[in-house]
Amino acid sequence: MAATASTPPPGLPASLDYPQVPIGSLLAGAATRYGDRVAFAMGDDQLTFAQTWQAACRFAQALLARGIGRGDVVAVHLPNCLAYPIAYHGILLAGATFSPTNPLLPPDDLAFQLTDCGAAAVVTFGPVSGTLAAVADRIPARLTIVVAPDGELSEGSVEFREFFADQPATRPDVAIEVDRDLAHLAYTGGTTGRSKGVELTHRNVVTNTLQHTCWSTGSVPALDANGDLTIDQIGSPDEWPTRLGTGTAINLTPWFHAMGVIAGLNGPLLAGGTTVLHARFDPAAYVADAERLQVTTIGGAPALFAALLATPSFHTADLSSVRNIGSGAAPMSHEMIRALHKRFPDVVIAEGYGLTEVTMGAVISPSYRSGVRKVGSVGRPIFDTEVKLVADGSEEPLPPGQEGEVCLRGPQVMRGYRNRPEETAAALVDGWLHTGDIGVLDEDGYLSIVDRKKDMLLYKGYNVFPRELEELLSASPGVLSAAVVGRPSPEVGELPVAFVVRKPDSSVDAEQLMAAVNEKVLPYKRLRELHFVEEIPVSAAGKVLKRELRKQLPDPA
Ligand code: AMP
Repeated sequence: MAATASTPPPGLPASLDYPQVPIGSLLAGAATRYGDRVAFAMGDDQLTFAQTWQAACRFAQALLARGIGRGDVVAVHLPNCLAYPIAYHGILLAGATFSPTNPLLPPDDLAFQLTDCGAAAVVTFGPVSGTLAAVADRIPARLTIVVAPDGELSEGSVEFREFFADQPATRPDVAIEVDRDLAHLAYTGGTTGRSKGVELTHRNVVTNTLQHTCWSTGSVPALDANGDLTIDQIGSPDEWPTRLGTGTAINLTPWFHAMGVIAGLNGPLLAGGTTVLHARFDPAAYVADAERLQVTTIGGAPALFAALLATPSFHTADLSSVRNIGSGAAPMSHEMIRALHKRFPDVVIAEGYGLTEVTMGAVISPSYRSGVRKVGSVGRPIFDTEVKLVADGSEEPLPPGQEGEVCLRGPQVMRGYRNRPEETAAALVDGWLHTGDIGVLDEDGYLSIVDRKKDMLLYKGYNVFPRELEELLSASPGVLSAAVVGRPSPEVGELPVAFVVRKPDSSVDAEQLMAAVNEKVLPYKRLRELHFVEEIPVSAAGKVLKRELRKQLPDPA
């Protein structure tokens, strides 16, 4: 049984021809092609594509003037803001490596990450710079660049704009080896839960940005007259509602996460879309702005869609400008897909599956009109990517219908984990990445993610996948969202326990809900407890924080 390979959208070649250019060529191409169009906007401030390019070149020159370039790591400790694309592309144009951190990391985690990545400099944000200051003597960085400082700058710190104000807006002359030079060093819990740096080259990042953007806009890679990267749309406009150089989206996906930086930051640069930033998520403000700006795309993690669906104005606002909906980072429940289809009958709803170790994405449900979307499946492999499922301890692909660990192979797969040869060797076998996710392929090569291996519960040796119970709960009347974790039990292993957020007008009780779910599942999968909560904890990237939920388990009755 062979692994499943990609079947590209209509009109596109089976395989893409990826130019061997560094990531900076993507912004250079966007600046030439989309020039004065607004690339990023936040409040009253905005950056055109050309301005983003010029500022990024200046930022790169400023780093190089301080002796920071190839072989150095620069950490970015920022929320999404207009400084972000400047810092990100500036770091890469200087030939240095971008290492993003969640701006809300607690001090010890921040110190660990900044030490492990060996950052020579950190770009931080005034309101969160206190955490950085608190760990300053435990990290190697000697230069801090501060966006929106909220007090006096300490020694070794410089204000963001001042840092590069005097520099020329010319592209630095840095020779980048796209197959070897590290572009991103991105931290993730990965499959073992211990935070590790994922090493991604310029080629990984350019490739995955092209795979996704070409797939969802019906385009192929191209080089412009300067040898910089752009894409040409060759598909029919009926298939791909997005035309290059048009379209607006509101971005909330954090750029410190894979989906944010590839699909939210670099993708729109390649496609010429305008990205509007909101400092924080307020569903009613999101809907109002989406209507006012006539957004064409709604993209994010399922938590965004859950919040929007629970917002009354989302159902009444004029959102007829929306052409695409894209979700990733965590599973969309079947119920959510049905509700979105009902709200937007003519919109293409796509879901992507991936992980930091494959730059961002590897599998996608059709994001064009004629594709067959199977509810519950994340689709088929993207260009030049293969998927196979294996049993524990084996590398042999399992036949369709059998559950196994999802393994992925393609040009977007990471080089390895930083300084962790054993974990790298365990994760990468003959170019196949072992993802730690359990999935199943159907006869047509469509992948469904059953659950994460580490979230699986064992009841008397039987596998219980929380996701099956979460799907049943989500489909029950009165339920807004639900998550299932295991309560350790010396007698049986683990017992399934549900945490549920009720809809505001619902009075459904725990007994009823448990009975409704339990009559639909095999006895060993039955829920033993159900607790109503105000909210389910979700990470900034949109993943349910099961570890936090386990801490909320009440003491046994
Ligand atoms: P990260 O490396 O932080 O992006 O996390 C990757 C993990 O998120 C994967 O290993 C999956 O467990 C989960 N994930 C991402 N996308 C999806 C999806 N569409 N459906 C289900 N799980 C997903």
